[in-house]
Amino acid sequence: MAEEPQYDVIIIGGGAAGLAAAIYSVRAMLKTLVIERQAMGGQILYTGEIENYPGFPEPISGPDLAMLYEKQAIRFGTEFEYDTITSLDVSGPIKRLIGEEATYTSKTVIITSGGEHNKLEVPGEDKFSGRGVSYCATCDGNFFKGMDVTVVGGGDAAMDEGTYLTRMTNSVTVVHRREELRASKILQERAFQNPKMSFVWNSAIKEIKGNGDVNSIVLENLKTGEITEQETAGVFVYIGFHPINDFMIGSVELDPAGHVVTDIQMQTNVPGVFAAGDVRAFSERQLANAVGDGVAAALSSYRYIQEG
Ligand code: NAP
Repeated sequence: MAEEPQYDVIIIGGGAAGLAAAIYSVRAMLKTLVIERQAMGGQILYTGEIENYPGFPEPISGPDLAMLYEKQAIRFGTEFEYDTITSLDVSGPIKRLIGEEATYTSKTVIITSGGEHNKLEVPGEDKFSGRGVSYCATCDGNFFKGMDVTVVGGGDAAMDEGTYLTRMTNSVTVVHRREELRASKILQERAFQNPKMSFVWNSAIKEIKGNGDVNSIVLENLKTGEITEQETAGVFVYIGFHPINDFMIGSVELDPAGHVVTDIQMQTNVPGVFAAGDVRAFSERQLANAVGDGVAAALSSYRYIQEG
């Protein structure tokens, strides 16, 4: 007797794209499993407030929104597993996902593994991680009440999270490697007008120092070469993002930066394998886009199964 796969759809990653795909898959009566290695919600778990997601005229906290997505996916019957997928065997009609805990089989796979924050890769960063160095203002901001902290980066995440940190800290110094921010104008204006925020331009952190916890950073002025040391209680790193793709190298086509290549229906180069959200090439890296991608991938996987 031919092998029957366990699921119609397996979604790798329980972020916004993955949970949106799950909601659409289960509502199409497809047996659907979401496999997540950490916590349901993905990137939004690290976002203090979301104010550009349509339908929420008042800001909503990322963790609160993540809980709503999960609740909605559960309500329609999504199954969940906590496991780390280490490799894929997707060349045949039955897709096999090899995890640390088990192997899972499915008719289709939707990859929504997202990405991770880039690290500064300077001395002291790993040593003081969790003791002053953080990649999540929402998670760690409250440990820095009334203190002076540093944010590294000039993008939307640095401005959003820096502004959030001014609520509980005494001051936020933004260190950026150029003299112009990459962040959108509205976030720039908000940061420039915030009396608790200041900027150190054309500078890079060379070392993070401390005695138990962080107490200073060594800065290099990239124009003059001048080296200075500045006291700080915390370093929040927001210097971009890279896709999580280790488990699929060699199984699906990736672009040179490691994102999954898809067409506009989220189809990868492998029939029955779709990708959505931040892991996808040309993703706008916005929450609403991740949700839209997830929906498109779920509809494509439904069509693939119907045509099967
Ligand atoms: P990003 O837009 O790629 O910005 C990264 C910032 O870090 C840039 O300013 C970059 O400098 C700097 N940088 C990169 N490598 C560095 C290094 N090694 N040392 C020092 N600085 C470095 O990343 P992001 O801010 O994480 O945002 C990612 C995506 O999420 C974007 O598409 C963004 O729009 C989206 N997002 C949106 C919101 C929102 O809409 N509210 C909030 C958060 C994130 P250069 O400018 O010199 O390259």
